Amino acid sequence: MSGFDSFLGNNALISRVREDISGGSLSHAYIIEGARGSGKRTLAKLICAALACREDDSPCMKCLSCDKIMREQSPDVIYVEADRDKVQLGVDVIRRIRGDAVFRANDLDVKTYVFPAADTMNAQAQNALLKLLEEPPDGILFLLLCENTGNLLPTILSRAPVLRLEPLSDRMISDWLLENDGTARELAASDREEFDVAVRMSGGSLGAARELCDPKLAAGCLKSWRAAEEYLKLLAGRQKPGGELAFFEYAARLPDIKQRSELSELYSLLGAAVRDLTAAKLTHSFRPEFFVSEDEARELSHDYTSMRLMRLFDLFSQASDELDGNVNLQLSKTRTAMRASAIISGR
Ligand SMILES: [Zn+2]
Repeated sequence: MSGFDSFLGNNALISRVREDISGGSLSHAYIIEGARGSGKRTLAKLICAALACREDDSPCMKCLSCDKIMREQSPDVIYVEADRDKVQLGVDVIRRIRGDAVFRANDLDVKTYVFPAADTMNAQAQNALLKLLEEPPDGILFLLLCENTGNLLPTILSRAPVLRLEPLSDRMISDWLLENDGTARELAASDREEFDVAVRMSGGSLGAARELCDPKLAAGCLKSWRAAEEYLKLLAGRQKPGGELAFFEYAARLPDIKQRSELSELYSLLGAAVRDLTAAKLTHSFRPEFFVSEDEARELSHDYTSMRLMRLFDLFSQASDELDGNVNLQLSKTRTAMRASAIISGR
């Protein structure tokens, strides 16, 4: 069995990569696009291992080459990241690669430069890289990983085929977790609802789902989820008799939300919910990020106009920014509730 068989979903993309490798039609560079936790880095390593592995059905995942590459210990698979003190990947880093790329690989036939966050390259760095992509030295492969190709220059995009990792279905993710992830299995056994919420909140990304199922990494996601659900229900019912008071009593207190991280999570969930509601109004088919189904979003979307949804979206992003700026928790709850209320009543 090849290591590619263990990669979840994205079958067409995986077949294409395997064909490019076995048919010798590998490009000098690929862009691997996908959400956080979607498997970009794993795919990059599988490609490198497949090129290095001498066994049938490569990558075998057992030989020394495969093992070194998968553990990120191979000297011929080089990870290119921003300098420690910088957020952006600058031109200096690319200049160093240009100097290094003239040397052949140590153990393998191909030397690979993996950019785990290619979209952090500034324009100057991308232009410098472009020169390398235009005249690639022999035996060099570039794998540019990014969440969004929108941050890459069109000239870079024209030089490297894009392999886009699509989100997985909730079913695929939950089946995989229950079979392979002990922590997730424990969560499912102790609280199936929280497990289901974690899977849904992952947005089709296996890595995100694994984090959300780990109580050490994502405590109380269900709590924030329930609060967001209640928030929206009461907000939609604001214009019924007594509705305004009911909404305000809840939204300004948010009794279950006591930590800054929980409130931050709540705002981000409310933002996702508003995106779903907008999509429900404007499109025939979409993948809900917050709601269990399109129908659920569609039903609630009747209570909102598109203009109000847009303003609510801005409100929750702003509230989230203010929270990062260290605003007092209670003040944030009250102010956001008042502003949301004003948006709904058109004030
Ligand atoms: Zn191998």
